[in-house]
Amino acid sequence: MTVLDDANIELPCPHCQQTIKERLGKLKLSPRITCPRCRRTSEVRPEELQRATHKLTQAFASIQQSLARLGR
Ligand SMILES: [Zn+2]
Repeated sequence: MTVLDDANIELPCPHCQQTIKERLGKLKLSPRITCPRCRRTSEVRPEELQRATHKLTQAFASIQQSLARLGR
């Protein structure tokens, strides 16, 4: 369990392009999303999950850098 597991990521529904928010930790356990609009469930591709994780990691890194600068 990391801080990233609590972060929400946004993925587009492959059926209707609705943006679906889901917790990363949940997607790691079961990589599927249910669309609130069209009610269809779809698998999240591993590379998509990885890309979202990478983006989050970078976002957290930049927040930490800003905080470090403030502390100086
Ligand atoms: Zn949909």
